[in-house]
Amino acid sequence: MELDDDSKKLIDQFGVSLIDLDDIKKTRLNEIHFFRRGVIFGHQGMESILDAIEHDKPWAVMSGIKPSGSFHIGSFMTATEIIKLQKIGARAYYCIADIESWEDNGISFEESIENSVDNLADVLALGLDLDRAYVWRQSEEDIVKKVPYVISRYVTNNMMRGIYGDKAFGMYLATLVQVGDIILPQIMEKPMPTIVPVGIDQAPHLRLTRDLTRKYSEKFILPAASFHFLLAGLDGSPKMSKRFPNSYFTFNEPLKAIEKKLKNGFTGGRDTVKEQKELGGIPDICMIFKLQYYLFVDDDKYLENIYNRCKSGDLLCGECKQKCVDLVTKFIEEHKEKKAKYLDKAREILQA
Ligand code: SF4
Repeated sequence: MELDDDSKKLIDQFGVSLIDLDDIKKTRLNEIHFFRRGVIFGHQGMESILDAIEHDKPWAVMSGIKPSGSFHIGSFMTATEIIKLQKIGARAYYCIADIESWEDNGISFEESIENSVDNLADVLALGLDLDRAYVWRQSEEDIVKKVPYVISRYVTNNMMRGIYGDKAFGMYLATLVQVGDIILPQIMEKPMPTIVPVGIDQAPHLRLTRDLTRKYSEKFILPAASFHFLLAGLDGSPKMSKRFPNSYFTFNEPLKAIEKKLKNGFTGGRDTVKEQKELGGIPDICMIFKLQYYLFVDDDKYLENIYNRCKSGDLLCGECKQKCVDLVTKFIEEHKEKKAKYLDKAREILQA
């Protein structure tokens, strides 16, 4: 996988270090395909996490979701990262970012609660272990709402404009609440390494959080971050976006609609069958391949087989897409059944 120019700029500007896959092989992070395959390619301060894993010390993972709609491929990626990190020992902290949803999307707290319940049921169905997890709504969690009062004496207009551009003041405030979200594990328990898995577009925010936490270094361990590649749009558009409905799918869409989007997905196939057999396809640019590589397939050998057969011309896009459709729709169908059983639990947790 190659970094695009925007990502390279963020890496330079915000001090992101690249992850060495040989180092990962020596750790339990290698059990997680995002790390093993280089989908998570960069980090800030991950040494503290590696040390905690190696010496069996407590550590946490923190991330969340903006409850502005149905669970989609992007939310699936972050939730899966949290669940997999929880499985290898992290305490999990999952935030429902309803303050951000109000400030950024104008969705009222009353309105976002239904999305929150729905989204949390998705995360529970994916396997979040509630015995070792804490889930909160920003608007209901006093600790994270108090953090902006404490840290904002170190925040200037220029800092916020430099990182986020000219925004309504509420958006700046929401980012300071998110600093509270990130240090919440350490406030609720004790100082401990905490990793925040995010897309590379979040590098500026993690930088702000780390800079502000540094002011309280006697109280907190500097939060770490891991950065993953962002999947481009299924239809070949540069990114998944609501503006391009065929660029992504949500977990609430009918299976037939998901099937259609996958079948129309952008591939690395050639113009004709004859050409594909002679020249082979290009899996490195194919969204059908990437979707499975990033998210839906854990088995490295299965992917290697697709990759090699595609490149050699032995596999044609029709057959390959159908296999992907079968795999993804089966997953979503089973997920929907599991999720239905978790809706009451999600409502109870969020007191909705
Ligand atoms: Fe993509 Fe599969 Fe076609 Fe290769 S054969 S380009 S992996 S859809």
